Amino acid sequence: MNSSVFPVLLFFISAAAAFKFPQPPIKNPWLDFKNLSGCHIGENRQGVAHLKAYLCHFGYLPAEGRSNFTDSFDSILEAAIAAYQRNFHLDVTGELDAPTLEQLITPRCGVPDITNATSSALRGRNLYSYFDGAPTWPPAKTQLKYAITATSAVQIDIARLRVVFERAFARWSAVTTLAFEETESVPEADITIGFYRGSHGDEGDFDGPLGTLAHAFSPTDGRFHLDAAEAWVAEGDVADASSDEAVDLESVAVHEIGHLLGLGHSLAPEAIMYPTLRTRTKKVELTTDDVEGIQSLYGRNPNFREVSPSASSPETNAAAPAHGRTAAAAWTGRQVSCILAGIVIGLLLL
Ligand SMILES: [Zn+2]
Ligand SMILES: [Zn+2]
Repeated sequence: MNSSVFPVLLFFISAAAAFKFPQPPIKNPWLDFKNLSGCHIGENRQGVAHLKAYLCHFGYLPAEGRSNFTDSFDSILEAAIAAYQRNFHLDVTGELDAPTLEQLITPRCGVPDITNATSSALRGRNLYSYFDGAPTWPPAKTQLKYAITATSAVQIDIARLRVVFERAFARWSAVTTLAFEETESVPEADITIGFYRGSHGDEGDFDGPLGTLAHAFSPTDGRFHLDAAEAWVAEGDVADASSDEAVDLESVAVHEIGHLLGLGHSLAPEAIMYPTLRTRTKKVELTTDDVEGIQSLYGRNPNFREVSPSASSPETNAAAPAHGRTAAAAWTGRQVSCILAGIVIGLLLL
């Protein structure tokens, strides 16, 4: 090679190596729902069938119609949207207004919100729920073993994963009679934890970044699957993460362990068992609702005192919400309304 060409070539190679090619934007699989803004009963609009499939997956539409959903906005869909709005503390309009669309596209757990066991009549005054038939681990089995079995799809150090999952399990053992121990032997494990992409052998296909984050099965199945495509944050403050799509691993782990032990989704926005989790948000402390739910299944850890006051506050997120109106925003709004109502009543009494 000509000696004068070589340094020039070297310059271009090193410049190319230093240049960070722009990453393709992460596509939220549910972002297209925003095209349905203002769609109402009687209308036919492309994308309605996708929304019906979404609402069906999470339990708001019956599974029987799954194979032939159309783009027609009918009265059944309107009722399903109203039920969804009730669960997420939105104005119950049955229409696809902006707050409803924002909530629909918020990242969430893949486990359905509604099963036969989670009708409002069965919840009573509590907001936590169980799976159908309230399955639990057998009473004699208070020591559960878990194995981290599938990690090749993510680039997180196994030692780091061990720390995160151990901490997540400890939050539940602190309040109940259950204890957890990691094992490297899969046959010995009651619970298996793994990261997967797309279709992975059950009915909960993963959908790439955002959308569905993870899912877990009710007792005594023991499977806990995470979407390997998420921008998982396993250490440090997720609110400081460089990615707007960063998802806190420990927060998702604490939630999914609730499912592994028998809890369904809670209607309490501040609860760990609430279905959605905003990006760049850490939410790891059990609330009173979570504790009452799990203790109703397994009893109380004698060393447990009470939920710390900080755990009863909503999600904390230093970053601006990247996905619009959130559960925490709705909660805060209700608190503010209550305070304002109290002030008005107080003034009237004066
Ligand atoms: Zn869930
Ligand atoms: Zn799965």
